Amino acid sequence: MPTNTSDRTTVAILGSGPSGLACALTLSRSMVETIVISSDSTAPRNTASPFVAALPGMDRNSPAEVRAAIRKDILSYPFARFRNSDATALQDQAGGFQLDLSDGSSVFADKVLLAMGMVDIYPDVANLADYWGSSIINCPFCHGYEWRNTRWGIYADRQEVLDAAEVYRHWSNELTYFIDPSLHLTEERRTQFESLGISICEALPVAVNGTSGSLTEAVFSDQQPIAIDCMLVFPFQKQTELVTALDLQLTSDGYVGVDEGFRTSVSGIYAAGDMTYAGHQNTPTALHMGNMAAATIVMDLCFKK
Ligand SMILES: Cc1cc2nc3c(=O)[nH]c(=O)nc-3n(C[C@H](O)[C@H](O)[C@H](O)COP(=O)(O)OP(=O)(O)OC[C@H]3O[C@@H](n4cnc5c(N)ncnc54)[C@H](O)[C@@H]3O)c2cc1C
Repeated sequence: MPTNTSDRTTVAILGSGPSGLACALTLSRSMVETIVISSDSTAPRNTASPFVAALPGMDRNSPAEVRAAIRKDILSYPFARFRNSDATALQDQAGGFQLDLSDGSSVFADKVLLAMGMVDIYPDVANLADYWGSSIINCPFCHGYEWRNTRWGIYADRQEVLDAAEVYRHWSNELTYFIDPSLHLTEERRTQFESLGISICEALPVAVNGTSGSLTEAVFSDQQPIAIDCMLVFPFQKQTELVTALDLQLTSDGYVGVDEGFRTSVSGIYAAGDMTYAGHQNTPTALHMGNMAAATIVMDLCFKK
C-alpha cells in the first residue's frame, strides 16, 4: 500500500546481503545515519543453501542466521534503520539521490551504496531447482567438502570450467565432465582428463533426478543417464533491473566497475559485493567489500567529495 512519505538520510544502502550489512555496521560505528533498503520478499542468492560455509566464526550457520546476527549488531547502535521494501528507481536529485521504493514512499540520500547482488540465470535442466543449493552446488570452496570423494558431474558450458578440472579433482577423483558440444576440447586437454581419470560426456544433461531430496542421476536427450551424487553448476549472471537502468560504467563481463574504494563511475554512488565481481564470489569477500566501501564513504563525507 503506498505510504506517500519521504525519508532523508546520509547514506542509503540497497540490499541487505553481507556486503550491504557490513557497510551498515561500519557506518553505524562511524556514527553515519543510514537507511538499509531491502524487502523480505526478494530472496537473497544463497536462500536455497542449507548453510554459509567457510565464514570464519560462523561456519555452517544458515544464511538467515548470519544475516540476523549482523542485523543485531547494527541495531545495537542508533544510526541505522531498515526499510522493508525494494528500491524501484534511483535518480540524481539536487546534490543527492532520490530512491523510489516499492511501498510507494521515497528516500533522499546524500550517498548510495548498491549492494544488490546478481541475478543467477539457471541453465535449462529440468528439476534443477529441487537440488540447487543442496546437491547441485555452485562453488567447491563453499560446498565441496560435504561432497568430497563422491561422484561429481561438472556442467561445462564455458571454457573456464574446462580449464579448472585440476581444481575440482582436488575434492573428488570421480568426476564426469558434461561438456557443451560447442566447446572445443583439444586433444591435449582430452589426454590430460584421461590421465586424471576424469570421464568425458560430450553432452549437457537436460534433467536431473533423485530420491529423498538427493541427486542420483543426470539425464540426457540421446544417451543413457549417468549416476552422480552431486553436480557443479556455475550459472551465468545478470544485473538487477534497477542497476541496468542506471548510467553506470560496467566491466566487459557486465559487473559494476568500481575503483579501489568501491566508487562507481557516478559520483556519490558506490557498489560492493557480487555485483562488482565475477571471481571468487562469497560471503567473506562481500563482507570485506562492504566494509571497505563504508570507509570510503566516510572519507568522502569528511572531504566533502
Ligand atoms: C546456492 C549458493 C550457496 C552459497 N553458499 C555460500 C557459502 O556456503 N559460503 C559463502 O561464503 N558464500 C556462499 N555463496 C555466495 C554468497 O551467498 C554471495 O557471494 C553473497 O551473498 C554476496 O553478497 P552480496 O551482499 O553481494 O549479495 P546478496 O547476498 O545476493 O544480497 C543482495 C541483496 O539485495 C537485495 N536486492 C536486490 N534488488 C534489490 C532492490 N531493487 N532493492 C533492495 N534490495 C534489493 C536482494 O534481495 C538481496 O537480499 C553461495 C551462493 C549461492 C548462490
